[in-house]
This record gives sequence, structure tokens and C-alpha cells, in this order.
Amino acid sequence: STATLGVDVGGTRIKWVRWIAGAGIAEQGQLPTPRTGPAGVVEAIGALAGGQQCDAVGVGVPGHLTDDGRGTRMIPNLPGEWAGLRLADQVEERIGHPVVLTNDARAFARAELDHGAARDLANVLFVTLGTGIGGALALNGKILRSRGDAVGELGHMICRPGGRRCGCGAIGCLETVAGGSALVTCARALGSAAETPDDVVRLAESTDGPERGVLLDAAQALGLVLGNVLAYTGVNTVVIGGGVASAFDAMRERVQLALAERSGLIGTAIIRMAELGPIAGALGAAFEAIEYADARLTLP
Ligand code: BGC
Ligand code: ZN
Repeated sequence: STATLGVDVGGTRIKWVRWIAGAGIAEQGQLPTPRTGPAGVVEAIGALAGGQQCDAVGVGVPGHLTDDGRGTRMIPNLPGEWAGLRLADQVEERIGHPVVLTNDARAFARAELDHGAARDLANVLFVTLGTGIGGALALNGKILRSRGDAVGELGHMICRPGGRRCGCGAIGCLETVAGGSALVTCARALGSAAETPDDVVRLAESTDGPERGVLLDAAQALGLVLGNVLAYTGVNTVVIGGGVASAFDAMRERVQLALAERSGLIGTAIIRMAELGPIAGALGAAFEAIEYADARLTLP
């Protein structure tokens, strides 16, 4: 039976899972994302994949791929130059097994749709709240995919014109207001001592400091963008996950209020929390690898 390795490249950690078709998760783990930039990340994935028994590898990255899907094009929140890095080719050469790249949020969506919070749904908007904000959309049971795996970039919907500069180069993107690093940056700019998104939430609940306002602002921005995307797509269910999803509890009421205002178009919006936990992205990448391996094996 097919064994695939799924890898999720994040800002601080690389998470991985070895999946055996028909049997499930065989092993999982994580390592710190190398500080040596893209070359270090290629090296780490190569070493990881080389040491695992697997038929194919799927790698989820937090940004866009090149048009042919074999390399990275734009990664807003990772340091270093990622444009044109042939990540899939380089790892493939090293380990001698097929390697496929996907966007991390599309990988998350794949896992939650197949086995998680959306397994009974066909039309869903997926959101990952992390350092950045990722998005994906399932319509009629299929996750939208596009050139460079670039469809669904919820985090870069502009909601604060004239606001802060985003890692993508634009100004006022959703993730500059509601992303994990933004929560901390915005709070600190107002004098907060918060060092993590969790700090922001904790201080908002326990003090009269600026953190409450920051979360309110984030919730407003998130509600605005979710409302627009739901109205645009005709979807009314949202699944929320990602490393900072816990901060969503503090935003939920506001977001729901914003969506309720638009119920004329959207109907009753349903918000569900993701079910697969921090491993969802890596799992989704492993599922993508299964398809890729199967496709390769049937080639002449
Ligand atoms: C990137 C997305 C990614 C998300 C979560 C955003 O900044 O543009 O492609 O899915 O962060 O990592
Ligand atoms: Zn942006």
C-alpha cells in the first residue's frame, strides 16, 4: 500500500506526517524551520524525506507556487528569496521519489474536507489563522485549485486602505490586521507587552490595556472579508483552523454580528472550528502526494 510523507512548512516549525493508505497515520513529528532561509528549508525537507520510507512526498508552503507548480513564487511571511526556488525538483532529485507542492491553506482544506470538520459538507470556505491568514474554497465537494495554487488568498483581501504594509507588498491586507504577527505588532504599537497572539488574547481578557481594541479591530476586519467572500461565492459555511485559531474565540461574537448584518445575501452563516488540529496541513499535503504518486505510476 502507498505510504506518503506530508510536510507543512511554517514560519517557526516544519510539521510532518507519514500516512499509509488504508491504515492512516504511521508517524508524525516536527522540527524548527531552519533560520538559514530557503536553501536550509530544502536541505531539511530533503533530509527528512530521505530518512523516511515513502512512495511520494507532498509539501505545503505558505504562499504561491510557480506556474508549473514545481517551485515557489511568493511566500509573504518567510524570510529570504523564494521566487523561482525549484523546491519540488530539488527534493525529488535528492530522494528519488515524486514530490508535489501545494499551498498550505489548500492542504489544510483538503484534510478537513476529507476527514475533518467539513466531511459532511460540499460548499465551504476554509480559513487558517496563523502568522499569516490562508484561505481555500470548496465548491460542490471540490477544492478550487489554480495556476500556482493561488486561488483563495483570503489574507490579502484589503480591508484597511492606507493601513500597514503587508509581506505581499500591498497595504492594508486582512493579515496585517488579524494575522497572528499583526495581533502582536498592533498591540505592541499601542504599548502592550504581548509577545505572542495568545498573550494578546490573555491580556485582552484580564486587563484594560490596548489588547481588547486590537482584537476588536481584527474581528471587524475578519467579519468584513468573510462577509464579502461568502456573499461573492454563495457559500454560507466557514471552517476555521490554524495555529492562532484559539484567538478566534475572542473575535467570534463580532464576526458573527458582521455576518448577521449580511444575512439577506448570505443566509445564516455557520462557523465551525477545524477538527484535525495542528497536523491538518501536513495531512492534506500527504493526501495530495497520494494522488500525485498514483498519477505518476500510471505514466508509461
Ligand atoms: C499566504 C498564503 C498562506 C497563508 C497562511 C499567506 O500570507 O499568502 O498563501 O496560505 O499566509 O500561511
Ligand atoms: Zn498582503
